Amino acid sequence: MSAVYRVDLDAFARNLRRVREAVAPAAHMLVVKDDAYAHGLEVLVRRAWDEGVRWFGAFDVVTGAAVRAVVGADARIFVWLIGGVDDLEAGVAADLDLGIGDEGLLDDLGTLTAGPARVHLKIDTGLHRNGIRPERWDAALARTAALVADGRAVFEGIWSHISEASDADDDDARALFLAARRAARAAGLEPRFSHLAASAAGFARGEFREDLVRVGAFSYGIRPAGGPGEAELGIEPIAALVATVTAVDPAGVHLDVGSLHGLPSTLSGHFDVATPAGPRSLEVIDATHSVVAPWEGARRGDEITVFGRGALHSATDLAEMIDTIGEEIALRVSPSLPRVYTG
Ligand SMILES: *Cc1c(COP(=O)(O)O)cnc(C)c1O
Repeated sequence: MSAVYRVDLDAFARNLRRVREAVAPAAHMLVVKDDAYAHGLEVLVRRAWDEGVRWFGAFDVVTGAAVRAVVGADARIFVWLIGGVDDLEAGVAADLDLGIGDEGLLDDLGTLTAGPARVHLKIDTGLHRNGIRPERWDAALARTAALVADGRAVFEGIWSHISEASDADDDDARALFLAARRAARAAGLEPRFSHLAASAAGFARGEFREDLVRVGAFSYGIRPAGGPGEAELGIEPIAALVATVTAVDPAGVHLDVGSLHGLPSTLSGHFDVATPAGPRSLEVIDATHSVVAPWEGARRGDEITVFGRGALHSATDLAEMIDTIGEEIALRVSPSLPRVYTG
């Protein structure tokens, strides 16, 4: 055996049910960017589809097309990183829902031969990552209305992304969002889908749910740093980093995972891992291996659960020790570690 990242698909299914119930009557859009938060896109998308998820948030067009290949024609797949004409063409070809946050893309849409494209227009509500600025919104609506009139676009929705860092900021963002929707209606564009919340606001704040909630982290059981715990949220970690003992010597018990596999070396000496003899301190994290405090009877081949499901600490627990967020720890798990699925 060597180190693996073990993913429990039944736990994932329980989280999906919990998310569905928490955001209802809005629909759950499962966000699967970054290889489904490093759990493995194809397997997780397939299970989610089997569990009844019908919307997927895929980030870019390449990922969106990969999701389409797994789930078939009936799923709705939303993408929001779109580079230009080639991406638009590929997105239309894969029947994706396109999150348009840039007026230049509206011009590009006018030049496509295929279509019509399904457009979700993004209003910038303060994050300034992308999105149409409020002062350009009316112009973007006029451009979109013209595309719809020409049969080049179908107006599907309005969306935004909020910080979820403070309720006050989110309330300001929502006010801009609602104003943008009123302006769209006044311009004759009725959104079928409004969406602005991700995991945190989708769970905590009913008025942010609208029609769709784009939930990544909580679907995978990753709780927010400094926020409510898994039990309170009703979610559970779905993955565990499981290492194997390679040697036992006077220095300690050696494991086959290190910082190159995704364990930040700054965590050396900061936390306990689950061994057959109970919790032991992970004292050293090197590039390709690490060393645990010894125990009586330790043997080559013993399995050690380093973090996540069945361990003493979740990804977010480790993140909090080094002032980051759980996603950061989860996304660092190296693609070189085999994903092993149970359930
Ligand atoms: C990543 C992302 C999400 C999901 O956020 P979580 O906090 O993981 O639920 C939603 N919307 C957009 C635009 C994102 O980039």
